[in-house]
Amino acid sequence: MNTSSLPRVAVLATGGTIAGQAGDSSKTAGYKAGVVGVDKLLDAVHALGSVARIHAEQIASIDSKDMSAALWTQLARRIDELLAQDDIDGVVVTHGTDTLEETAYLLHLTVKSAKPVVLTAAMRPSTALSADGPLNLLNAVTVAASKDAAGKGVLVAFNNQIHSARDVTKTSTYAVDAFRSPETGLLGFVQDGRVEFQRTVVRAHTVASEFAVADRWPMVEIVASYADVSRVTVDALVAAGVRGIVVAGTGNGSMHAVLTQALADAVKQGVAVVRASRVGSGHVMRNGAANDDALGTVSAGTLNPYKARVLLMLAVASNVQDVQRVFDVY
Ligand code: ASP
Repeated sequence: MNTSSLPRVAVLATGGTIAGQAGDSSKTAGYKAGVVGVDKLLDAVHALGSVARIHAEQIASIDSKDMSAALWTQLARRIDELLAQDDIDGVVVTHGTDTLEETAYLLHLTVKSAKPVVLTAAMRPSTALSADGPLNLLNAVTVAASKDAAGKGVLVAFNNQIHSARDVTKTSTYAVDAFRSPETGLLGFVQDGRVEFQRTVVRAHTVASEFAVADRWPMVEIVASYADVSRVTVDALVAAGVRGIVVAGTGNGSMHAVLTQALADAVKQGVAVVRASRVGSGHVMRNGAANDDALGTVSAGTLNPYKARVLLMLAVASNVQDVQRVFDVY
């Protein structure tokens, strides 16, 4: 086979369970994430050689529960540099599953290229019996090497499915099919070298996004509404100089009366407050379960609290005045 005509894909490794190692191959929960280097991960997947020419970089070796905004900035800038090169056709990021949806959405809103960017991960460490990482990696590279994947925003290839970074979320603590896009569903499939898209996202992303990663990120936090909640957390955050708060509200983004008062006070102090829902699917309607016009709050629409925080961080970092507009556009 003449491999010089194959697409060239950059694989950027950040750690996670896909690079996890356990002392015993029967262990799928007791292991250390982010230990195995990218070269070893690639060596384990011989079939990659007939899909793409690979350029590999180890960006980090972390458990993604420890992801930082500074690493987001480094990762997004490196992806932009690589995709600006004529000899790179797509990028794969290997990541932990825990915060994958946050990194994916951050990149979806900040990468300045229409070339494919695909995140993948694994639920079982690389040393496990029936490890899922090698096939996920092969499938992610297959998607990143596919012309059909261009212009669709950042994608997540996992368990033979292709999801949009905007909608995907982790829905199981242990299952190999851990990712879902509630309400919207997956974008398509990748199986045995075939990439098939069924739909695209219509909300703005990548080259159509107004956002870029920041050198310094504003403080934006998440609080939840629940029975008997106090205002202590919100007041402490305001005292600490928080710039934005996302509320993981009950139901349709409703909030306990005590929390509502605390957040109305926060808005008066100049804090941007966004109402999301802790429910896991559905949308939060503006002026629905709370009067956003009167409170000065914003509804998150279909974004879960963690993704709403990513968008709010970008909006605050870019001094966006009309925060509801960006939640209606992205
Ligand atoms: N804690 C791991 C991580 O997010 C979990 C995983 O990758 O599945 O890095």
